[in-house]
Amino acid sequence: MSDCVFCRIAAKQIPASIVHEDEHSLAFMDLGQVNPGHVLVAARAHRENIYAMDETEGAAVFAAVIRVSRAIRAGFAPEGLSVYQANGAAAGQTVFHFHMHLVPRYGGDGMNLAWPVKNPTREQLEASASTIRNQLAFHAE
Ligand SMILES: [Zn+2]
Repeated sequence: MSDCVFCRIAAKQIPASIVHEDEHSLAFMDLGQVNPGHVLVAARAHRENIYAMDETEGAAVFAAVIRVSRAIRAGFAPEGLSVYQANGAAAGQTVFHFHMHLVPRYGGDGMNLAWPVKNPTREQLEASASTIRNQLAFHAE
């Protein structure tokens, strides 16, 4: 079994609420919600960082980032959306698997994100994930 948490989520060995998946990308919500509607989009394959992806894979991951961002906007109506990646030891990461955070911002919370993260109940998380999935399905065509 991989000791990479992202690979374990992709293999469905760890429960996470997956909102989108395709050949190259995996988007999910976990219980560490910086703000309501926070989604992570990861490369499906284990890639240490952005430099390790080829352009086809990278294009698919970024297409997923755009689609999920629109679903967050439609479903949660935040004032803003921060999209960032923070890979590598310099960012305090202990797992090296390329991923991006899509963090909705509300009501003047600015660029300073609340930390530690909020922990919704599993029911609240599933409701949020359903909102994203419904928006993705609605805009699928
Ligand atoms: Zn991995």
